[in-house]
Amino acid sequence: MQFSPLDVVMADARNNPSEIAREALKRLAERRVAPTPANYQACYFEIARLPNVLPFPEPALRQLAGALCAHGDAQAAQLARLDSAISGRSWQGVQEALLGYIAAGQASSGAASLPHETTLLLLRLCEPLFAAMGKEDRRFSRAADEMLAVLRVSPCEAKRFEQAARRVVDMLPCVVEEEVEIRESLLKLLHMIIENIGDLGIDDAWFKGQIDGLLAAVAPPLTLRHLDEMERRLRDVMEKQAQARLRSLEAQQEMRAMLAAFIERLGSINQSSEAFQARIENSARQIEAVKRIEDLAPLLADVVSATHSMAEETAGSREQLRALQERVLATEAELVQLHRELDNASLLARHDPLTEALNRKGLDEALEREIGAVRRHNTPLSLSMLDIDNFKRLNDQLGHEAGDKALIHLVNLARRCMRPSDTLARYGGEEFVILMPDTTQAQGIEAMTRLQRELTKAFFLADGQKVLITFSAGVAELREGENGHDAVCRADKAMYLAKRAGKNRVVGA
Ligand code: GH3
Ligand code: MG
Ligand code: MG
Repeated sequence: MQFSPLDVVMADARNNPSEIAREALKRLAERRVAPTPANYQACYFEIARLPNVLPFPEPALRQLAGALCAHGDAQAAQLARLDSAISGRSWQGVQEALLGYIAAGQASSGAASLPHETTLLLLRLCEPLFAAMGKEDRRFSRAADEMLAVLRVSPCEAKRFEQAARRVVDMLPCVVEEEVEIRESLLKLLHMIIENIGDLGIDDAWFKGQIDGLLAAVAPPLTLRHLDEMERRLRDVMEKQAQARLRSLEAQQEMRAMLAAFIERLGSINQSSEAFQARIENSARQIEAVKRIEDLAPLLADVVSATHSMAEETAGSREQLRALQERVLATEAELVQLHRELDNASLLARHDPLTEALNRKGLDEALEREIGAVRRHNTPLSLSMLDIDNFKRLNDQLGHEAGDKALIHLVNLARRCMRPSDTLARYGGEEFVILMPDTTQAQGIEAMTRLQRELTKAFFLADGQKVLITFSAGVAELREGENGHDAVCRADKAMYLAKRAGKNRVVGA
């Protein structure tokens, strides 16, 4: 192989770093290239016939690795890989670790999870909701269960939740529509049943009243209060019907027994009169055949005895018949009384007959119901005890009947002013209790003050004479753990304070 002189010079230069450096500077000048470190290094390596490899930038890479943080285990593994690649000065390793880190990031952002609080909230919302919707629709129920199962896994994957929720949401309109239809059909059915019961032909004012009440109670919109009222009325109907049925069965039995005895008695009268007839006829024939007077005496004695026993038997029968008749009349009177009692039973059961407000029994039940609602919904309940001022004087001046009308006037006005959810009950003579759900004591006092204002505007007219009725009231808000009776007592005490403070005012308990 032949070498040129230049090759010889270059070979020397390649062996001597200072020669190479000088030669590199020369070459930069010849090529008119900017003397940057990179260009200088390129020339240097070219002359030294070495590959132009940049030095491994470990500090810079460590700085970069330190700035990266791991979201999840996969990214943490890739960062560890990057660390060992930097230590091993492996470009290939660094490249692979960085690509791996990015891929893991993308994968974990695809499987983003819902915040824990949101998951809990969704569970609290959906669990009772789905439970309330029942299991009738199997497909929906399965989709709902699946969605809940996704929510119960922590952390909850957003993507999985979205898919499960979408299935539920797609079916929801159908299911809800069906629920509404079912409810409407049930209501219609109930209406028909009640109407049919009413048409059974039981001619009883009480019964008709209860049926009308039931029909009014099932009119939409259906609320828990409506249903409660309906249940109470149905219970009344059933109780009274059972009572009436039992008593009238007993009465029928008695009547039947009496009738049987009567017929038997009639039969025996007939029989004994036939026997008497035969005996008399026989005696008559013997009497005709008698030749001797002494033979007549025993025959006559026979007739007398026959007549006597016949008369006795007839008298006994008459006595028995009279007793029977008395018992029939008594039973009949009892049945009439029973019906009369039934006529009043509806009102007596839970309502005050004069004002038609609830009575004490009705109040107790309503109070129990409202306290149940308070515990379930954690809402306030206030109750007011209200007593008409100087009612005795009104009675004395205008008469008892005007007093009754004044009570009715107050009840009607209170009904107009109160919210439909409020309950009014007559506690005693001229004392009333008003239950106000969802009402704090301050709001209760405000409501009672409003009622007082209305009462001053809506005069009570007694024989065309305007009479101003006022009342004093105490308002208590049910305390935690307190029973209804204690709350009523507190309202009552506050009412007496209102009386002592000069009447016509409202005092909080
Ligand atoms: P105060 O302002 O202190 O409440 O005096 P008051 O006169 O209203 O109270 P009191 O308890 O002395 O009298 C209540 C009266 O209410 C006595 C009773 O005759 C009358 N009363 C109770 N029930 C009825 C009713 O159903 N009809 C009528 N007309 N009066 C009734
Ligand atoms: Mg009183
Ligand atoms: Mg009074």
